[in-house]
Amino acid sequence: MRIDLHAHSNASDGTDTPAELVANAVAAGLDVVALTDHDTVAGHAEAAEAVRGTGLTLVPGAELSCRVGGISLHLLAYLFDPAEPAFAAERELVRTDRFRRGRAVVERCRELGAPISWEQVERIAGSGSVGRPHIASALVEAGVVATVSDAFTHDWLANGGRADVPKHETDPATAVRLVRAAGGVPVFAHPGAVKRGRTVSDQVIADLAAAGLGGLEVDHLDHDEETRARLRGLAAELGLLATGSSDYHGHRKTVRLGEYTTDPAVYEALVAQATGAKPIVG
Ligand code: AMP
Ligand code: ZN
Ligand code: FE
Ligand code: FE
Repeated sequence: MRIDLHAHSNASDGTDTPAELVANAVAAGLDVVALTDHDTVAGHAEAAEAVRGTGLTLVPGAELSCRVGGISLHLLAYLFDPAEPAFAAERELVRTDRFRRGRAVVERCRELGAPISWEQVERIAGSGSVGRPHIASALVEAGVVATVSDAFTHDWLANGGRADVPKHETDPATAVRLVRAAGGVPVFAHPGAVKRGRTVSDQVIADLAAAGLGGLEVDHLDHDEETRARLRGLAAELGLLATGSSDYHGHRKTVRLGEYTTDPAVYEALVAQATGAKPIVG
């Protein structure tokens, strides 16, 4: 069983349509893939339709933008009821503020001499949940930087960078409770991704565990071996599941689907905690 619990479609900042993501997951030899777009479930219906008859299992999910003590972090949410109103309202709030913030980031880029426009970013993002990777693609198109990754430096879009503007982000303990109240399972995404900015302390993770956190994403491209070992130990200590996943973004990132995977027993335990939705068996 090959299980990848974190992937993005063009419903947020991935480049595959949900149906293409499903086809690519089948081609990559995956048995289970989770669709975890930023702050949206807009890709779920198309992905659910696409898994039919493929043998691939789809885990509907999302990745929520959170912030605590001035540190931004991401919370994965799996198998929640998408219609549960409190959590749906919070996703809507974050998504809406992404537009205001996107415009402000474009304005800052222009002040810094980058010839990009909001119309260009809207074209790149399509109907998806708009984010910095779309603006990074605009900077690449304009010849300002060579790659999306090169746009995530202090000069441009990195956390705290010259053109970074904060967006509304949910307090993570609140987010954990919202996900649980919607029957879902919350997992802390790439908790040790130091290259993205400051990361939270073990104490914050322990507090989130007490609030209902279900797991830590341990095996991830942005974690070195030492970080993985440390997080695996912390997960065991706190009684949390330790997952692994690619965080695939299509051609906006070089990581391949299934490059990091989750142990089948961990996956079974995660599904057993969920009451909001079931995996969709294709
Ligand atoms: P946003 O959701 O608009 O705040 O943008 C954050 C997204 O940008 C993350 O989910 C990643 O997909 C991407 N990102 C963050 N840091 C980097 C980085 N150093 N290199 C490439 N992509 C990044
Ligand atoms: Zn992303
Ligand atoms: Fe993330
Ligand atoms: Fe992600």
